[in-house]
Amino acid sequence: MSFSALPGAAASSAIALYARWSPELDAKLEAALERLREASVAHGDGLVQSSSLGVEDMVITDLIARHSLPIAIATLDTGKLHPETLALIPRIQERYGREIAVFQPRQEQVIQFVRREGEEAMFKSIELRKACCSVRKLEPLARMLQGRSAWITGLRREQSGARSDVAFEEDDGQGRRKLSPIADWTWAEVWAYVERFNVPTNPLHDQFMPSIGCEPCTRAIAVGEDFRAGRWWWEDSSKECGLHVKK
Ligand code: SF4
Repeated sequence: MSFSALPGAAASSAIALYARWSPELDAKLEAALERLREASVAHGDGLVQSSSLGVEDMVITDLIARHSLPIAIATLDTGKLHPETLALIPRIQERYGREIAVFQPRQEQVIQFVRREGEEAMFKSIELRKACCSVRKLEPLARMLQGRSAWITGLRREQSGARSDVAFEEDDGQGRRKLSPIADWTWAEVWAYVERFNVPTNPLHDQFMPSIGCEPCTRAIAVGEDFRAGRWWWEDSSKECGLHVKK
């Protein structure tokens, strides 16, 4: 599904534009909650929500907190995030009284990479972009998942062709279970939940950025473009950083 933004339009409320509580959403919500409850029982301390701080992950964090599920919440701070994204971390802590574990890249690796390839290495080639993602995302993610048996993501089937077959639960190729409890939700349903439960979200979503990554690698999208078209927009690639690539 493509995203309907108005080209050149000023920021507008994503809730006003997209939120629509579908007839199926009550059942989808209950099912998502049940998946989280079952995972919490099955994995205990081995379970973590790996939040990108995007709107889908905020919905899941809200479900976890609202229903007092004992699930740890963690995020990655790549060192290249927008200030608006980083500002969500204390907002979550204030709103829900939950600690968010923040994993950052190893500074020495970042310094060496930037010294060798430059601050704008990601624009030079897909290989260098992936190398940057590896240093800033994959390595800290590996630490986040160390000792865990399962992790929760906000992946949805509608987000891109590459994600059209996302399962509610699958093997992540590293011996863990990867859970995507709202895989079947639509964009309109995600925003309907946000509206009804007053979920904090990144204001950049109101500027036609449905998918928000690092600042240099994210732009707003226009009419007819896919959800993830604003990620690494200069590349003709699958728009993935390696966090969710099937092994
Ligand atoms: S999204 Fe861009 S800045 Fe962020 S880790 Fe990947 S290449 Fe680097």
